[in-house]
Amino acid sequence: MSTVQFNCTGCGKKLFNYDPATHYRRYKSPVKECPKCGRKYADPRCHEIALEGLPKDIFSIKAHFFLIILGAFVLYIGIVMFGKNQPGAINGIQLLMPAVITVLGVLFFVGGIVEVMSILTGIKQKKYDRLTMESKERLKNRDYAYTLYELGYLVPQEYL
Ligand SMILES: [Zn+2]
Repeated sequence: MSTVQFNCTGCGKKLFNYDPATHYRRYKSPVKECPKCGRKYADPRCHEIALEGLPKDIFSIKAHFFLIILGAFVLYIGIVMFGKNQPGAINGIQLLMPAVITVLGVLFFVGGIVEVMSILTGIKQKKYDRLTMESKERLKNRDYAYTLYELGYLVPQEYL
């Protein structure tokens, strides 16, 4: 994971660091304003669904099932590491690593199950339907659509 620094294209002010490879995406308006010079910019962490679509594995059970398996595996390693502590020799540092690994395993495992459940029950679909609708609503504002166009987005003619 390597982070990239994002600077204002107008005045060069450092705005934030972000990791382009991360799977974490925010679905809201990417249009923001530099607090220093007021120039508008597109936040690469934010995505306008109506223009950019969604990653194709977002509703994939298989992709999330992998997360559950990974979580179970990490959890298993954490528990094995706990078991390797010699009785009597246990101190805080020795317990820290297994504890961190175990917690990570549980997070992946439970997170994966929650995601799969929300896909199966349609809750996730509903959430993204709502986000897509909000995105389309934003684009109905011609000034906003034009700002995105100026910032380099492919905006369909119907919005301009
Ligand atoms: Zn600026």
